Amino acid sequence: MALRPAFLLLAALTSCTRGSRTPVLDAAAPVELAEPSETRERREELVRWIEVGGVKSRPVLDALRKVPRHLYAPDATLTDAYGDWPLPIGSGQTISQPSLVAVMTEALGVEPRHKALEIGPGTGYQAAVLSLLARDVYTLEILPELGEVARARLSRLGHRNVHVRIGDGYAGWPEHAPFDRIIVTAAPPELPKALTDQLADGGVLVAPIGDERRGQWLVRVKKIGGELASERLEPVRFVPMVRGR
Ligand code: SAH
Repeated sequence: MALRPAFLLLAALTSCTRGSRTPVLDAAAPVELAEPSETRERREELVRWIEVGGVKSRPVLDALRKVPRHLYAPDATLTDAYGDWPLPIGSGQTISQPSLVAVMTEALGVEPRHKALEIGPGTGYQAAVLSLLARDVYTLEILPELGEVARARLSRLGHRNVHVRIGDGYAGWPEHAPFDRIIVTAAPPELPKALTDQLADGGVLVAPIGDERRGQWLVRVKKIGGELASERLEPVRFVPMVRGR
């Protein structure tokens, strides 16, 4: 589960004040044409909540405003799709809490010229946010059933600069390396060497590192002159990054 402890209590409180279960939109409807004001308003409310929580980057907040999160979790109610908590997405995985997506994306510092690598697209939501900020997004999903759905969804929603491959994130995507930015959305016990090798000089990597026993930290790593400098950002809880066979 991708969860930020500090947000949990507040998230639980907001969930009590929000409306009852609401049916979601037809996931196939083109969002620009068919989106009712309700989903746009809920998203705006969520983005304001995230801003109050400390995320300052205008481009990141604008990207969150543009991506219709309810289409990435089509079985969820609007209250869940626009609540600040993680959601189950099948196959034992979760879509991360939106404020955590925002914090990680801000920490990554993506610019329009960047080529980014994501490990663990899940629903494709984080990849969609990145695709509005970066030149190209390469994303590796180990579970074919999630990867295929994410690929089809991202293509249907027009994210043409996202490239989804089914594969093991521990190996990275050497054919397209080096990457200016790397984001990992499942927790490995240690930083995978293939990923730091595939990070460009001057590049930034953001990942949750750790396990159940030791706990997990969100870590930011910068590569400067071939050397890695790492800093801990905050404690988090993500699903483990599993080893491919
Ligand atoms: N970023 C996602 C949520 C991440 S959930 C979103 O926005 O919806 C973590 C994802 O990492 C899951 O989809 C899981 O299958 C994937 N994953 C776990 N281990 C992996 C590995 N070794 N390589 C690639 N993907 C992996």
